[in-house]
Parts: sequence; structure tokens; C-alpha cells
Amino acid sequence: MATARPHVVLLTSPGAGHVLPVLELATRLAAHHGFTATIITYASVSSHSSPLQASLPPGVSVAVLPEVSLDDLPSDAHIVTRILTLARRSLPHLRVLLRSFLDDSPAGVSAFLTDMLCPAALAVAAELGVPRKYVFYTSGLMSLASLLYTPELARTTACECRDLPDPVVLPGCPVPLKGADLVDPLQNRSDPVYPLMVGLGLDYLLADGFLVNTFDAMEHDTLAAFKEVSDKGLYPPAYAVGPFVRACSEEAGKHGSIRWLDGQPEGSVLYVCFGSGGTLSTEQTAELAAGLEASGQRFLWVVQFPSDKDPSAGYLGTTGADQGNSPLNYLPEGFVERTSATGLVVPLWAPQVEVLNHRAVGGFVSHCGWNSALEAAAAGVPMVAWPLYAEQRMNAVLLEERARTALRPRTREAGSVVPRDEVAAVVKELMAGEKGAAARERAGRLRDGAQMASAPGGPQQRALAAVVGVWKGGKAIDDHPAAD
Ligand code: UDP
Repeated sequence: MATARPHVVLLTSPGAGHVLPVLELATRLAAHHGFTATIITYASVSSHSSPLQASLPPGVSVAVLPEVSLDDLPSDAHIVTRILTLARRSLPHLRVLLRSFLDDSPAGVSAFLTDMLCPAALAVAAELGVPRKYVFYTSGLMSLASLLYTPELARTTACECRDLPDPVVLPGCPVPLKGADLVDPLQNRSDPVYPLMVGLGLDYLLADGFLVNTFDAMEHDTLAAFKEVSDKGLYPPAYAVGPFVRACSEEAGKHGSIRWLDGQPEGSVLYVCFGSGGTLSTEQTAELAAGLEASGQRFLWVVQFPSDKDPSAGYLGTTGADQGNSPLNYLPEGFVERTSATGLVVPLWAPQVEVLNHRAVGGFVSHCGWNSALEAAAAGVPMVAWPLYAEQRMNAVLLEERARTALRPRTREAGSVVPRDEVAAVVKELMAGEKGAAARERAGRLRDGAQMASAPGGPQQRALAAVVGVWKGGKAIDDHPAAD
């Protein structure tokens, strides 16, 4: 009699930056490790999560949790408040679903993985007796180290992070971080999101381990520092299972932006994109447009609707944009016409992986979402780091100061407008200056590191095999974190 394949259940939070890597991990677990995988998702996921509605790879299926209402939250509630509240209110539904998997599936549930924004689910899995519970951390290890420290930070300090007199020394992080560079939901103690972040840090400790979407060349020192503290039992172990970067697809290659890139000289185009939800103010949109124009560089800009209230407004589609309206209507008068010989603006979405890997692209202005950082690394493209929200400032520090593949505009105060002169200067430096050339060279080396990490039999596969060995009841080979 054929034995049932072991079953792994993965919970994803909303947003392309979470859904896509979770899908990639599920695909690999099914294709290479003999699992069937169920991805659990919330009903209110953004439209960019469509990969979960499209045809799924063999062995992977999707279950959708029933809708829960967030109508009682104030309209200006922090994006993380919205997501963590969604996760908490969905726990009863998750319990029912997980129990049905445990009862119905001949294989039960070998392991449960929750996305980094839903670790409250670990307690539900534990209560139901799921044998292995992990967090799939879809950002970098440095930010995980900072979130794990949040309860201690809250307990031992009273002022706002940005007012801390000294940089914060984090266990598992090789460099002290300025308070202002810690994740943005920690920047205001009186915001209801603050205690939720403290709870998140505590919930992480329920995990048996962390699968982190990172790789050695990107976070070598952090992997070593984290291993030291996890070996001492302070934190669960971290497995560097990244980089998960989706492969280029032929279909996406037919997008108008790619056809436009086909006609541009090699390495000449600056790609500008702030992720699936990064949003600029009306004033910043105008300054960016003027700066791009003044720089004289070729550009491809994915334009979102502006929001004067919230830099993450596009994330859950809360810009309030009217159906049928286009964000291009919010660009300065005449900008599109004046720049049409050297620039292309596209509304809302471009196939980023294909864009970054196009021979015409030579630089990337990015909000430093972790997936964007990994995709740029894997394509060897240097960046202008322009963080907006979440852990993006920390990612920007990593890219500028550790990997040194990114330049930063001089205006660094969170939320302040980067003026057109500074936009033009940093863009010119990236595309044509000495600092840009040095960043490009390092980006090339980082690409080599990413290729080495994901080569057949390389550290990525070995790290995943190590953790999967544990799920299947074997003993972990000592290959975590992959700081080799
Ligand atoms: N993305 C894309 N086209 C866009 C904007 C985003 O393909 O126009 C993809 C991008 O390649 C990445 C993900 O959406 O895989 C965004 O994830 P990231 O972590 O960079 O940022 P987030 O959207 O979570 O802030």
C-alpha cells in the first residue's frame, strides 16, 4: 500500500512580498522533499496575490480562511495593526481548519509554518499537537533579530526609539543599530501597534526554528552572530533558506515595459519602483519626477497613486483610488510628454524580476522591501535605497553600509521630502558616477554569492534539507544557519 506523503501547512499574510516567497517555499517542499503542501491565506489578500488563484504546482493547494471584519479599526490604523489584528481575529477559523487537516488527512500535519506576521498562530498549532512549528521569515535576519529584541527594548527603555542616546546592541546582530532605523511600528510608543509588536516578539519564541529568506553573502555576519545566540538557547535556530527569487517567465516578458527596455542601450535604464504598496506623497511624487527629468537618465517608473497620509497606503489598497482612474494622472503636468524620449511610466505594476534581469537596466530606486533587495541582489543591480515603512530603513542600512550595493539620498529623516536636486544628484551618481560604479561592482559580487547560495547542492538546498530532515523525524545535520 502506498504511504501518504507528509503534509506541511503554510500560513501566509497578505501582500505580494509574503505570498510569493511562501508559494515558492511550498513549491520546493512539494517538488524536492516529497511533501504535499497547503497554503492558508486570508480572504482579504491583495489582488497581487493572484499567483494563489492561478494554476498551482503539483502537490500544492490553497485554503482560504473566512473573512473577518476590521471595520471597527480607525481608518488611519497602522498597516501592521491591520495585519496583526486580521491574524489574531482569524485564529478561531485557523483552529477549525488545522483540526480538519489533522483529522482528515491520512498524513496529518508534519509541520506548520507561519508567515512572519502571524506568529500568534504558533500557539494554536501547539494546542492542537502539531509536532513541528516554524516561522517562515520573509525578510532579513537582521530585522528578525531586532523584532525578537522588542519585548526587552520595551521593558528597558521609556523614550521613543529615535531618542535613544546610543545605538541599540541587539543579540544576534553584529552591529548596533540606531533607534531611528528600527522598524517603523516601534517608532511611536503610544500607537496601538507598539504593544502588538511586543506580542509579536514574544510569539516568535514559540517557534521550533526560523526559516529565513536570506543567504550568506547578504548577511554573513548576522548569520554568524545569530547562530552564536541561538546555540546558547536564547533564540530558536535560524536556517538561511534563501534567496527565494522567482524565475523569469516568458509570459511576463511580453509586458509593455519589457518591450520598451528591448529598445534601450545596455545598462542605461534606472528602474524606479516602491514595491507592491509603497506610496509617495503628492509633493514627493512631483519632486521625484522633476529629479528624474533633471538627471537626464533613462528611467522606467512604476507609479502608484499618491497618498499624503500613509507611505504604505497602496499595500492593502487603501489609497482610495477610484476605479478606472490611473496614477499617471497624478504626475506633474507635461512630465510624461517631456520625458517620453528617455523615460517610461507604467501604472501600478511591472514584472520586476524580468525588469531587473533585463540587460538595459543599470540601477534600481527601491523602497528596500526585502524581496526587492533579494531580486536586485540576484540580478546584480545596484540601488538607490529609499525606505518608506516597515523594516525598510533597516534593510537600507544593510544595503548601504554592509553589502554596500546601495547609495542613499542625503535626506534621511523619516518622512521628509527628498528634493529634486538630491534626486537628480543621487540618480546621476548611481548611473554614471564613481560611487555608482563601485556599488555596481559589489552588486556583481553579491549576484555571484546569490548564485552560489542557490546552486544545486548549495547552502540553500542544504539548509532546507536540514530542517526538512527534522520534520521527517531525522536528526538535523549541523547546517544551520548556513554561515559557511
Ligand atoms: N513587484 C512586482 N512588480 C511591481 C511591484 C512589486 O513584480 O511593480 C513584486 C516584487 O518583484 C517583489 C514583491 O512584488 O517580489 C514586493 O515585495 P517587497 O518585499 O519588495 O515589497 P513589499 O511589496 O512587500 O513592500
